[in-house]
Amino acid sequence: MDKEQGRTILKRLKLKVTPKRLEVMSCLGGEPLYLSADEVWQRIKVRVASIGLPTVYRILDELAEAGVITRIFLADRKQYYFLCTNQEHHHHFVCESCRRVEDLGQCVLGEGAVEAVQRSGGRVTSHILQVNGVCGACSNPPREASCRTK
Ligand SMILES: [Zn+2]
Ligand SMILES: [Zn+2]
Ligand SMILES: [Zn+2]
Repeated sequence: MDKEQGRTILKRLKLKVTPKRLEVMSCLGGEPLYLSADEVWQRIKVRVASIGLPTVYRILDELAEAGVITRIFLADRKQYYFLCTNQEHHHHFVCESCRRVEDLGQCVLGEGAVEAVQRSGGRVTSHILQVNGVCGACSNPPREASCRTK
């Protein structure tokens, strides 16, 4: 994601366009991978020496509130962030091996969950769902090219 795209998104979210917000967005928007706040900070501070880790946390929180950053939860209990501009209701598949994140095209909440809540007289108002696993590329690494000749 370049600065121009970042600017367009911030305007759409009615957030003030600041150089630091743009840096955070272009850092996370480079590849479809999740990063921790510390990792974002390590990458940005090379270019913007005046940025501190608390500022990075604040910006990540603001962008998460605005809906353009998704928090990723993993077994290590650290918090990770993923930039996703898809505003449709959807969920993510997270590769725990290479950190790649894929949008799942449709809602994967089973009917059973909604029915179970309704059976006990309640109603579902929202849900949070993240699918963890190992992606295809990590499951089937390309075999090492053999250079055997006859
Ligand atoms: Zn993977
Ligand atoms: Zn997404
Ligand atoms: Zn859903």
